[in-house]
Amino acid sequence: MKRTFLSLILMTAVVSINGQQMKPEETEDWSKRPENVTPGRYGEPPSDAIILYRGQQDTVNWVHENGNPLKWIADSALTVKKGTGGIKTVKSFGDCQLHIEWRTPAVVEGTGQGRGNSGIFLMGRYELQVLDSYNNETYYNGQAGSIYKQHIPLVNASLGPGEWQTYDVIFIAPRFNPEGQVLNPAYFTVFHNGVLIQNHSGLRGPTENTGIPVYKAHEARLPLSLQDHGNPVSYRNIWIREL
Ligand code: MG
Repeated sequence: MKRTFLSLILMTAVVSINGQQMKPEETEDWSKRPENVTPGRYGEPPSDAIILYRGQQDTVNWVHENGNPLKWIADSALTVKKGTGGIKTVKSFGDCQLHIEWRTPAVVEGTGQGRGNSGIFLMGRYELQVLDSYNNETYYNGQAGSIYKQHIPLVNASLGPGEWQTYDVIFIAPRFNPEGQVLNPAYFTVFHNGVLIQNHSGLRGPTENTGIPVYKAHEARLPLSLQDHGNPVSYRNIWIREL
């Protein structure tokens, strides 16, 4: 009790000394004026977003993962055409904020990893899993919202099959030194349907289905890719903001 009272006196003294030493203006920061951005309302992208897919006119932003023309079904959404392979953006990105909406098939087929499987690969290497995880158990670091084989999502915020779902992602690219060693890992923060499921999760390396991942130095910016895992998963309203 006595000690608490003493520390209270000391704290008050420090504050009042600081108050005398500094003026309020001395801690005001006028160095960088934030740009004006018009926020997106009702699912619209914010004014400074790069649109990656909002409809057929945006097929120009995508190619087959080998660089050939796009083979997926492209109308109001981009849908996996089974067996054709993954797709990637024409542009490259590093640190970014990504919004993407996805839908697994309404007609449920398969179980575990075989049900509505696809994936969003930041920099073509780091997978945020897309899966129908509504009443569909699989290994937890492989369900929807997992950073595949590395991080289990904090919760399962999945909607049912056939429903449009959202991911809002903040991705920080890994940093390498000139010798190619990793200085800082890649980080994912992810909201699934508005619910936080990955909170600054650090990656051990690129996504591997088998074995322990090991970083390999790469460019500061690389295309975003979407996976063909044999299920007709759809994507729409894809936009990105470089950070
Ligand atoms: Mg996948």
